[in-house]
Amino acid sequence: MLIPCLACESRFRPDEYFSACSDYNRGMDLVSWTCPRCGNRDDLRVLPGELGFGYPHRGRFDVHDRVRVPGLRRQRGDLRLDISLDRASWRVPTRLRQPA
Ligand SMILES: [Zn+2]
Repeated sequence: MLIPCLACESRFRPDEYFSACSDYNRGMDLVSWTCPRCGNRDDLRVLPGELGFGYPHRGRFDVHDRVRVPGLRRQRGDLRLDISLDRASWRVPTRLRQPA
């Protein structure tokens, strides 16, 4: 199972792909992803069995493209998202913003 970068079409093993996730946005239910190959930054939603890509729209995030990742699971925490696939798991923390 390889997961593509939608910008440069490089394909990554799950460990490489999910290790490149950062900053879980709980309100929008999105993680940031930075391609290790081309540096493209994308926001995506981790869903059971798939990844959702799309665009923010009127304060929501509309998923337009889906990439199937069979067996993908997710669990939302207070300040993190836990992603698991097969026996591996990754933790994406929420980056705390300094109060203005
Ligand atoms: Zn890329």
